[in-house]
Amino acid sequence: MNRMLEFREVDVFYGPIQALQQVSLEVNEGETVALIGANGAGKSTLLMSIFGQPRIAGGQILFRGEDISRKSTHSIAAAGIAQAPEGRRVFPDMTVTENLQMGTIPIGNRHEAEDLQRMFALFPHLEERRHQRAMTLSGGEQQMLAIARALMSRPRLLLLDEPSLGLAPLVVKQIFQTLRELALEGMTLFLVEQNAHHALKLSDRGYVMVNGRIRLQGTGGELLANREVRQAYLGGI
Ligand code: ATP
Repeated sequence: MNRMLEFREVDVFYGPIQALQQVSLEVNEGETVALIGANGAGKSTLLMSIFGQPRIAGGQILFRGEDISRKSTHSIAAAGIAQAPEGRRVFPDMTVTENLQMGTIPIGNRHEAEDLQRMFALFPHLEERRHQRAMTLSGGEQQMLAIARALMSRPRLLLLDEPSLGLAPLVVKQIFQTLRELALEGMTLFLVEQNAHHALKLSDRGYVMVNGRIRLQGTGGELLANREVRQAYLGGI
């Protein structure tokens, strides 16, 4: 199994506050891995530290065996990591197509026409709205656009920050269905989610973060069945 992403005993501080404590985890090629945890557990910090903001104070972050913790954001993106940001941070004044074109920048605008077609096949809603400005899209469509834009750089690893945040249940289902299609095509996915149910159902493996530490890990099925996970993150069912 080829290791795609690896955290080795990573520490991150915000001033005196330690946001990540000795965090170790890995994502292998072709896997879907979820990181779940409550508000403030450190999930976003972990994701952001992959791109070097914040810088890690200790440990290592490896991408395909290479330490990326001192590299520039640009070279990390060019190496094949893309992130679909939380809260659908799309460019509001640009059209859907223009937003997607922005996504090709890390790879120098190669394969643009072909990849636009691929995105429209994966996200038919976006094709219908390709000439509309992003600000006119629904929340779910903006989230889809954020994911599609990240995919335009042909990443080896796609990071997703709370893809279900603030969306209606039906839309969340659609987004997770699309993520499943991507996983079946062989994309490696690492997602951070408060929606533990959907995230663990989708994922091969998962990690549970509490107060900046990895508290539990296992297969998606093991964590869904775990008593602590059920009580803390699945409403005690
Ligand atoms: P959420 O789901 O709310 O985003 P999270 O699990 O992603 O939560 P983080 O946002 O990573 O958690 O926050 C981890 C800890 O670090 C929290 O205690 C938070 O208050 C603190 N923190 C986050 N960002 C900063 C910052 N820029 N400066 C100081 N403290 C911060």
